[in-house]
Amino acid sequence: MTEKQVVEVMERVRDSGSPLPNIVEYSEALRKVSEILGSNYTEKQLDNWILINKYPFLMPTYWNRETMQYEIDKDYKYDFTLLDKMPDGWRKAFGEMMCEEIYNALVECDGLDDYRIEDIKEKLGSLRWCSYPSYKEVEEIIDKYSVLSENICIICGKPDVPMTNNGRLSPFCKKCFTTPSDWQKREHPEEIERWIEFRTEDWEEYDYEGNNKMADSYTVESWSKEYGEKTTRYDISRTANMIRSKYCNGTKIRK
Ligand SMILES: [Zn+2]
Repeated sequence: MTEKQVVEVMERVRDSGSPLPNIVEYSEALRKVSEILGSNYTEKQLDNWILINKYPFLMPTYWNRETMQYEIDKDYKYDFTLLDKMPDGWRKAFGEMMCEEIYNALVECDGLDDYRIEDIKEKLGSLRWCSYPSYKEVEEIIDKYSVLSENICIICGKPDVPMTNNGRLSPFCKKCFTTPSDWQKREHPEEIERWIEFRTEDWEEYDYEGNNKMADSYTVESWSKEYGEKTTRYDISRTANMIRSKYCNGTKIRK
């Protein structure tokens, strides 16, 4: 059984919740996984191993100055992947969808082996996916999700929410924006009710501004010596609708 087949079997069993119909195949896959992860592996380690097998660029690596190569830490046990850097809500809404699109684009342009992720983070309320080398097809995918992220709750993944100011700029749904933290509940229980009231008013003000829908398209302006200014328009409504229906059907977050 190849590693790819093991991934397929383990993923199918995980998602369906049953080793049926082929229990022999499942035992064989389990044995292979134990060889790789050790016999006491956790569900999270297994999920991470599956994820990295599907999208190898999620493997954490470091630059070894002596060998002049990117290497994997010898103690690495699949406890985390680079996708853990993505805020929870965005990961839930589109994390793996985005990885799949990038993977397919890299296969198309034969760039899978050299592709590295430097960082995945939030800045000014939108997704920053920093990677190299730069491939046009991959950059378009990154741009698309960065634009969409501006109206997806950074905490829970709810689509079509406004960009709000929570001390810093971020997209929040009303529920996440008006939920006090455990720390607040513990330290300032007497202020909670008033706090929720203020927050609700605040949030409604942002919502009222009308910029609370995920974008259906975006435009990019580029310049070249030969052609001068050039504007390209991208239709991203299909991905926006996929995120909406994924949210309505319920999404699983694995971390
Ligand atoms: Zn939320």
